[in-house]
Amino acid sequence: MTKVLKVDAVEPDTGKIAIAAKAITEGGLVAFPTETVYGLGANALDPEAVAMIFKAKNRPADNPLIVHISKMTQLREVAEGVSPRMLNIAEKVWPGPLTFLFRKSDRLPQAVCGLTDKVAVRMPSHPVALALISAACVPIAAPSANLSTRPSPTSAAHVLADLDGKVDIVLDAGDTFFGVESTIIDATCRPFRLLRPGACTLEELQRLLGRVSVPMSVKKAESSAHAIAPGMKYRHYAPSKPLYMLGNKGFSHKLFAMKNVGIICSRELCRSYRGAGKNVIILGSEKNLYEIARNLFKSLRALDELDVEFGIIETFKEEGIGLAIMNRIKKASADMELPSTVR
Ligand code: AMP
Ligand code: MG
Repeated sequence: MTKVLKVDAVEPDTGKIAIAAKAITEGGLVAFPTETVYGLGANALDPEAVAMIFKAKNRPADNPLIVHISKMTQLREVAEGVSPRMLNIAEKVWPGPLTFLFRKSDRLPQAVCGLTDKVAVRMPSHPVALALISAACVPIAAPSANLSTRPSPTSAAHVLADLDGKVDIVLDAGDTFFGVESTIIDATCRPFRLLRPGACTLEELQRLLGRVSVPMSVKKAESSAHAIAPGMKYRHYAPSKPLYMLGNKGFSHKLFAMKNVGIICSRELCRSYRGAGKNVIILGSEKNLYEIARNLFKSLRALDELDVEFGIIETFKEEGIGLAIMNRIKKASADMELPSTVR
């Protein structure tokens, strides 16, 4: 049975946090909000609890987890060989939506890091996440609290839709702030390497870290998993209906009139086609990409609720948080553009 505990997002009830922290120290699973998305947490130092995360999510064992900490001294429990300069940088940017890869410590169970010798670490800024980690007094390993391949959860309802009965407690503090996951940087190489674009923008990172290399696989939003068949990639963040990206040829009135299509787009695009109807899901204003990011995963889930055969999603500029938005859109659509036959 999953217990849902509602907590205030800014000043969470200490009694409820203590119940959730006890579940963590006893080897259980707790889903909790961070400023990016909801995480599925377990004691990072307990191999059996970590194994339960993989089982609950149906996550492949070679896909490592991010370890969440609430104070700098916890970094030493999970990572080693962190240079004084890196410590300084981490201290400046944390708490926040930025994850660094360091060399893993011997103490950390190997399962947290998949097949690698590096650990991904972050100090989240959400008061509920910080309170939970502090009360549990252990680092918490937490991937996004969705079933593998599904869109990441930005509300407690999304967590329950995927994991009801598989997690002991869900701390419900309403919708998350950014709506896309943290940015991941490999801090063990020079120049620093971007592994996943996220809520902290590349432009902010470059100001902070100097040069940051962006591998081709990240630019193209390729999955780290190999293609399972020619022309077909492993899907991620995916609704269960086929999803196509709108190519640069634009929408047409014909598309908005079609009954078997769900359209996910900005308010402006919808207005210009007078397309408002039951099969249109509005992401927000194209002038505010943070609003688009916040509504993205919710909209991908909403597509599954529509009585349509497939979805089409607008594309956005790959600038600022737009880089993370387009990375998720490309993965959710397996990089497929709308075929010209249906335009
Ligand atoms: P999630 O929290 O569900 O977004 O998943 C955590 C992400 O962090 C995954 O996409 C992993 O690929 C990435 N990650 C975690 N640890 C490592 C690591 N040691 N090396 C590379 N990527 C990592
Ligand atoms: Mg995930």
